[in-house]
Amino acid sequence: MHMRYLCAILFHGKMKTENPLPNRFSVFAGPCSAESLSQLQDVAGFISQWNQSQGLKIQALRAGAWKPRTHPGQFEGYGRKAIGWLQRIKKEYGLAVATEVATTHHVECCLKAGIDILWVGARTSSNPFLMQEIASALQGCTLPVWIKNPISPDLGLWRGAVERIAKASKGTVGAIHRGFGICNPAPYRNAPLWEMAVEMKRSCPQTPLLCDPSHIGGKRELVAGIAQTSVDLEMDGLMIEVHPRPEEALSDAPQQLALDALGKLLSGLRFRDTQGSTARMTQIRCILDEIDDELVQLISRRMRLVEEIGRLKKASNLSVLQMNRWNAVVERALAQARAQGLDEDFVRDLFNCIHSEALRLQQ
Ligand code: PEP
Ligand code: MN
Repeated sequence: MHMRYLCAILFHGKMKTENPLPNRFSVFAGPCSAESLSQLQDVAGFISQWNQSQGLKIQALRAGAWKPRTHPGQFEGYGRKAIGWLQRIKKEYGLAVATEVATTHHVECCLKAGIDILWVGARTSSNPFLMQEIASALQGCTLPVWIKNPISPDLGLWRGAVERIAKASKGTVGAIHRGFGICNPAPYRNAPLWEMAVEMKRSCPQTPLLCDPSHIGGKRELVAGIAQTSVDLEMDGLMIEVHPRPEEALSDAPQQLALDALGKLLSGLRFRDTQGSTARMTQIRCILDEIDDELVQLISRRMRLVEEIGRLKKASNLSVLQMNRWNAVVERALAQARAQGLDEDFVRDLFNCIHSEALRLQQ
């Protein structure tokens, strides 16, 4: 190994701090929906106990009282009754409680009940009319309000929603990255599109940004990895769904963690040294991973079309290799490569590789 690289690695290793806890990192945890007082008491009991231990603290218990559901007839939350349970949890456990608001009626109900923290969901933040109504209902209020990203990847819409609340309210206004609804988000429920979160942070440095790995992942086994990525990207906290018996949850059952899994996730988080180039390298790598996913998806799409042409060639008794066509494909790609400043030999090799797989598929 070259001496200069070796020195750089050794020096970097020496400079690394041992998993320092961040000064300001918020964790909100709780069930997707408030389902009963005893369910909330189980969660609150866990949080209170957890907060006695060393390490990251959980600042608030989250639970949805009004649930936006895709189909009518699904469980839509216990509404006002659930707000009553949250009031009791606040009183009995001394915990801050958070819930989702989507209408002025919800806001008024929460303000009257002394709910500590509000969030606006992804289906609401995409609607400027609703955001304006919620902002007006929050005029002059001091409680913190967190705005989830709209379902569609539209940074302007998300920022606009945050701005509306910030103009009206006197409290902290933050943003929550919960992933985006795109055509093929696999393996996620909602594609993280990390570059959107990074751009939100860059363009609104005064707005704290939480990550909601539960709604991004959609499956509990993905939640911890997504949470770690958000920490690596220097996001300011997490909102995580947790349930005493996740498989019995009335909403979002597949993504809710068991209580002990939440403890494991929080104690396993690594807060790395974010000085120097490390954080930027992580940001870039997340974007590279997404580009690589797109590359594989594009190649797959190309190969499916190649197979279709193969069937058409067979049906019309045409040969598999049509040299004129292939020469035209390569010439076109090389012209593109020159225009994009890419090495021509590299692009030729890449296309030869694609072509040999295409020929194999058409045999
Ligand atoms: C939720 O937090 O339970 C929720 C409904 O989230 P989102 O608005 O992100 O779908
Ligand atoms: Mn949910």
